[in-house]
Amino acid sequence: MSKKSIETICQSTKASIADPWGALSFPIYQSATFAHRGLGESTGYDYTRMQNPTREQLEYVVAELEHGIDAIAFSSGMAAIATLMEMFSPNDHILVDADLYGGTVRLFNEISKKNGIEFTTTDLSRGGYEQLFRGNTKAVYLETPTNPMMNVTDIASLADECHKRDALLIVDNTFLTPYFQNPLDLGADLVVHSATKFLGGHHDIIGGFVVVKDEKIDERLRFIYKTTGACLAPFDSWLTLRGIRTLAVRMDRAQENALKLAGYLQGCDHVTKVIYPGLSDHPGYEISCRQTRGFGAMISFYVDSTELVEYILKNVEIAYFAESLGGTETLITYPITQTHADVPKDLLEKNGINDKLLRISVGIEGIEDLTGDFKRIFESYDRQ
Ligand SMILES: *Cc1c(COP(=O)(O)O)cnc(C)c1O
Repeated sequence: MSKKSIETICQSTKASIADPWGALSFPIYQSATFAHRGLGESTGYDYTRMQNPTREQLEYVVAELEHGIDAIAFSSGMAAIATLMEMFSPNDHILVDADLYGGTVRLFNEISKKNGIEFTTTDLSRGGYEQLFRGNTKAVYLETPTNPMMNVTDIASLADECHKRDALLIVDNTFLTPYFQNPLDLGADLVVHSATKFLGGHHDIIGGFVVVKDEKIDERLRFIYKTTGACLAPFDSWLTLRGIRTLAVRMDRAQENALKLAGYLQGCDHVTKVIYPGLSDHPGYEISCRQTRGFGAMISFYVDSTELVEYILKNVEIAYFAESLGGTETLITYPITQTHADVPKDLLEKNGINDKLLRISVGIEGIEDLTGDFKRIFESYDRQ
């Protein structure tokens, strides 16, 4: 584990690949290939699908932040997860959480199943998963908190159960980022990120990571990576590296806003329920206090009618009605028609994702403007 603080790691560079001119902003090596000085005399870089100096800087920082031995940067979060699935073979079984990002559910159901991988879906946050392991269970896959229901799972307990049975524990850490949660320290074997979200932080790139702590797994994944080729481009690597410079201050402010906005929404007549792990009535509040350094900036909430949902989405002025999360601007998402449109109906219903549920990714705007946006909307809705 690194002795440097997270805030400092966000500013660090890998000395062994330092820019020869001392540029503080690490250069964008916008090159597909690298010349050799002679036979067997590689500079360390041959072809950008394998590695590129700008991407390597980024991977170094993310590996440090997540306390892994390696972080592999992908062209999207989905590319990271899809590549990870190539580690498994037909007849392997994976236990997955019931509430996951919709694209991940679609990947498992429409692609991985076709490739012969078997899945069992369960709400891992409720425990009782021991009897769901089978002889061929190779991995458990989850998000905590989940997207969008914000369920919190005790990672350490689940990791113990996995390791008794030689199954890998894979945690999608997109919502909290290494600033608030380090799944590898809690016993997880692999961490997945959509870097599109809080790591990039500015809604300007699509990217992803797999972070690894075992050398053999790393070797295998690097092999699949160079073979299947979903690598992050140099410019997008640079933007992500730049985004991470401010990760700590962005996460702090966004979380501060989220706590205030969650409290504000709880007091609104039309809001029937607010789901945020930082509220002490959240079922995962205590586990969160133990296993994380913060609650993040994602809030889900129910309103009392679908007409109001439409009204909110039409009338927001400070927040944007848009898919995605984790940027400096506040976004409101309607999971049932956006992020979770391809999740089977019965699963949506079981999870509580319905047409009255909205999700907010809280940004770093002035909090009065954010609460004011909702206040104005609720007041004008009541007047009409
Ligand atoms: C967005 C997201 C993904 C997918 O990442 P992309 O970068 O959009 O491909 C995976 N997991 C979670 C939790 C996400 O929010």
